[in-house]
Amino acid sequence: MRILIIGEGGRESALAAKLQKDSRVSHMFFANGNATTGAIGKNVHLSEIKELRDFAIKEKVDLTIVGPEAPLVAGLKDEFKKHGLKVFGPNQKVASLEGSKAFSKKFMQTYDIKTAKAVVFDSYPEAKEYVQNQEYPLVVKASGLAGGKGVVICETLEEAEATIHDFMIRRIYGDAGIRLVIEEYLEGFEASIIAFSNGEKIFPCIAAKDYKKVGNGDTGPNTGGMGSVAPSPEFTEVHYVDFENNILNPTVKGLKAEGFTFKGMIFFGLMITKNGTYLLEYNMRFGDPETQVLMALMENNLLDVINDCMSGKEIELKFRDEKAVCLVMCSGGYPRNIETGFEITGEEKVRHSQLLYAGAIKKGDKVVSNGGRVLNIVATGATYEEASKKVYEDASHVHFDYGFYREDIGKF
Ligand code: AMP
Repeated sequence: MRILIIGEGGRESALAAKLQKDSRVSHMFFANGNATTGAIGKNVHLSEIKELRDFAIKEKVDLTIVGPEAPLVAGLKDEFKKHGLKVFGPNQKVASLEGSKAFSKKFMQTYDIKTAKAVVFDSYPEAKEYVQNQEYPLVVKASGLAGGKGVVICETLEEAEATIHDFMIRRIYGDAGIRLVIEEYLEGFEASIIAFSNGEKIFPCIAAKDYKKVGNGDTGPNTGGMGSVAPSPEFTEVHYVDFENNILNPTVKGLKAEGFTFKGMIFFGLMITKNGTYLLEYNMRFGDPETQVLMALMENNLLDVINDCMSGKEIELKFRDEKAVCLVMCSGGYPRNIETGFEITGEEKVRHSQLLYAGAIKKGDKVVSNGGRVLNIVATGATYEEASKKVYEDASHVHFDYGFYREDIGKF
């Protein structure tokens, strides 16, 4: 089989490392890939959907797996399908469940999916008027894709007014902010459930925990993810039943009713409060860095799972009864202004973990940083303590100038 994976993060490295072990996979291509994927297969520098389509036709690609959201929201699946190319992922319409927060909120409200109360605004004066009489904190969200930066938890009315102005008038995220979702603030802990869809049913993986804030003890600004663990230590069977009844089952019903059948991934971003489990958002793809810990524990053959989903078959997911921890090493300054281009050393001293490059590329015989989240160190163990010990021991040997990581991943 000839496989094309779109993306260049640690998530794509984890998928590649899992597929690499499969003897049926003869060729793997990555657009644009990173230092890990370049060692497993061939990195190609393509970004436009038409270029990717032409490449997939020319290289006789049997299956395309899409990591990030943007190509799906831009209609990659639709374009590939026209040319008989198979893609594991939803079409543009279904990808709007991630690409438009207004669209997904409406879907959640229509199908009684437990979510924060929210109102959608297209008009600046109306949004401004609305926030005058609300309880704070209040959450203001840009409806469109804003690179993970379009959600602001506003502590005060002044902050809400400033955010609405930034999004709708200053357009700091362009068209993504011309429509807003303003919603109640939910207090609790978060969990991520990533699931496979075979077009008929949804099959959830074990719950994972993502560490979103840049600093130890969950402080500082939000990031793409500073680390992850699986299973989530906080998400119990009781929460799962709540999720199944109030989120998963009504989602399946809604997808069917709307004709939104798809073969691919669906990610449920959950907030667990004292009033139960709420859905914050859908992502229509593998999560990063949750995929890294799920792949470390998944017993199934990934290609079998994907092939079965593609042919509408039932799957039975199995995870090792262990704990997995993923630590993300970042460029200095992340998530704000970063400096890149520094040589990464010490890879050969990583003994107990899997090192997956993310924002790192090969330059000559060196690997250098070229993104905010530079690499991931992933380990498993009988306990979180054992897994995180391995990760931190190995991380201590890996170096690049100004690189840093959180000290509390997987430590409970
Ligand atoms: P979203 O992209 O909608 O998942 O939002 C990104 C992050 O913002 C979430 O992972 C939460 O940390 C936070 N967030 C979003 N919505 C809410 C809410 N209603 N209450 C509290 N925090 C939220």
